[in-house]
Amino acid sequence: MGKKKTIKKGKKPHKNKATSKKYTKYKIDGDKLIKERFCPRCGPGVFLMNSQGRFYCGKCHYSEFASKKVDKEEAVKEEKKE
Ligand SMILES: [Zn+2]
Repeated sequence: MGKKKTIKKGKKPHKNKATSKKYTKYKIDGDKLIKERFCPRCGPGVFLMNSQGRFYCGKCHYSEFASKKVDKEEAVKEEKKE
């Protein structure tokens, strides 16, 4: 018999999914929990990604300019000069 039978296994090899980087948005300072900017529309738990001075929500596509952060950095620089 010249018949060739290809055996296919039903199960594909399991691949691990990329881990959520949500834990990087939480920082502990002493006994205080610091959370990064979250989406005002989606609420806490959905964080905004920071891209080129802008915050962006991947869930509802909300975007916000991070102008406050720049002011803070300038204030720190002025303090160092004195
Ligand atoms: Zn959102």
